[in-house]
Amino acid sequence: MKTTTLQLTLFGLAVTLGAATAAPLVSRLTPPSLLFSEGTATAPYISRFMVGQRFDLHATITADAATTITSGTFSVDGTPVPGTVTVTSIGSNKFNLVLRAYSNLVAAVHTFTVTATQSDSLTATATGNFEVVGTTAQGRKAKNVIYLIGDGMSMAHRTAARIVSKGIKQGKATGSLAMDTLPATAILNTCSLNSIITDSAPGAACYSTGNKSFNGQEGVFPDDTSDKWDNPRVEHMGNYLARTQGKALGIVTTADVEDATPGAFAVHTQDRGAGTGICDMYLDEAVAKHNLRVLLGGGRKWFIPFGQPGTGRVNTLTGSGADYVLPAELATAWGVPTGALDPSRDLIGDFVNAGFTYAPDKTSLLAIPANTTKLLGLFSSTHMDVSLDKIAARRGGAKVGAVPTYPDQPLLEEMTDKALQVLNRNANGFVLMIEGASIDKQAHNMDTERFVQDTIEFDKSVGRCIAFAETNPDTLIIVTADHECAGAAIIGASNVTNAALIIRAAAGGTDGVVAGAGVATDGQGTLRNGVVNTYDAAAFPFYDNISSGDGYPLTMDVDKKMLVGYGANGDRYEDWLQNAQPNANSMTRDTAGDFFIAGQATGGGSGTAVHTAADIPLSAGGRGSILFSGTMDNTTVFFKAMQAAIGGSK
Ligand SMILES: [Zn+2]
Repeated sequence: MKTTTLQLTLFGLAVTLGAATAAPLVSRLTPPSLLFSEGTATAPYISRFMVGQRFDLHATITADAATTITSGTFSVDGTPVPGTVTVTSIGSNKFNLVLRAYSNLVAAVHTFTVTATQSDSLTATATGNFEVVGTTAQGRKAKNVIYLIGDGMSMAHRTAARIVSKGIKQGKATGSLAMDTLPATAILNTCSLNSIITDSAPGAACYSTGNKSFNGQEGVFPDDTSDKWDNPRVEHMGNYLARTQGKALGIVTTADVEDATPGAFAVHTQDRGAGTGICDMYLDEAVAKHNLRVLLGGGRKWFIPFGQPGTGRVNTLTGSGADYVLPAELATAWGVPTGALDPSRDLIGDFVNAGFTYAPDKTSLLAIPANTTKLLGLFSSTHMDVSLDKIAARRGGAKVGAVPTYPDQPLLEEMTDKALQVLNRNANGFVLMIEGASIDKQAHNMDTERFVQDTIEFDKSVGRCIAFAETNPDTLIIVTADHECAGAAIIGASNVTNAALIIRAAAGGTDGVVAGAGVATDGQGTLRNGVVNTYDAAAFPFYDNISSGDGYPLTMDVDKKMLVGYGANGDRYEDWLQNAQPNANSMTRDTAGDFFIAGQATGGGSGTAVHTAADIPLSAGGRGSILFSGTMDNTTVFFKAMQAAIGGSK
């Protein structure tokens, strides 16, 4: 920036012609820092890395008209960084400067400087900073690190699951969720690099990279190109610990495996929706280079060759579902394949050729050989059915979810058991991410019964991991979320029996009386004033978790049921009854009762609740869990887990 000022001073003519012809300008410097953007050299340091963790140094330079940027140099603490600085024109007279796969072995706050040279010999320079974080020897190391991410799960989601699955009598819970039994508790701030409201991509990638990113991005920092794959990268925890300790990586989700949270643990892209490329990258990079050994979830469509029935693969590098090709300089520096536009790829076949056992359904998952060392399971075309529908199908009910062509889907706890079994065969330990994805998706849809039961399913997986840790004591278990979803709030309980609620929901707003306003005609008398008990009147809703015999509530539609409101709601009709079908449109379901609730937010589209900025809880147990307490930024979780894995803990 000083260079710019100097040129303006020396060439008065340039001032009269305007800044565009004054001098080249550094408009972005990566890793992001307050030192670059605001001139603030003190904490908080926006970008932090582990000692030896790899990341890209990057700058965007705006050149003067009719000139180009010809070369550049990055220096750290005044010393030029060896390696190739690649200069690329990105249009609008802007240029990318990047030096790939840098790492620093000194734990300290470092300043770094880019200097770019223009074809007329004018230069631009700018300075930022980043922190490198070390570890200390504190005791036994966490051999295994398990992240359990209840997507969108905050306090209310957990409390609701406890009320429904454990019960409350005279004010005390009559049982604990598995996650309640973990000894360490912390509170996390969840904001992303560009908003107080994060989406699931940076909300989860922070646990894998230790860094913030823009919404929609995973494993990268933002840049100024539309290319989904050329962004400055940050090395994932699984990659780092595979490289330095020989650990294996596992990814388990109830979502499509290309979804944001699973992708955030192994993929580098600025577009969380690039399904073809994301799934190809799992095999090309994570399996081939970073010891990914378990991948379980939905999303089979990305693995079926283009043109065949059920395929979702696309024949493009742009737009929705895009495939990937990396810049050659990126692939060379990071030691990964460049990828290819290959819509007809048989990705399941390629996984099998790489040594994976493939399970297309629950039956085959439960029957995998005991000596399986690599496991791919793809149990539906896109997102898997939610717990409530999977359980209904097992009980022989009519509800088999949105994709009846996939009737034999495993529960998350069954996927968890198999993932632990397979990963535990790696003598050096593992990093495992397990996501309860539809806590978020069903909260978005304001489908209370489905998000609550999915939280119960998620908690059963927590229980399986706790049991594993009891026989594998050097295991760290971290249970948290990526953000809160929907502003979920337990507001009370129904005043009526389920039978009475059904009558009210069918009758509409004719039998309720609104105080001071006579007979209601808008459902508020019938389904609000006549139903919603608060405070003392709410008492203790009771759910039968025994009679079903499968550990899940016999029904969510109990008499005087728990009621949930949504503070970040989209428009919806509400009748408090379980929706017969999943993913029902909140504007066309439940309309007979005529109880319309206007949403404040349309950010997720009409009829969709949105994420909120509320802090989220974290529970931890096992080796290293003592490191987790207090209130912290979400990126700090990464560094504490790495301390446990590298430096150990008491
Ligand atoms: Zn999320």
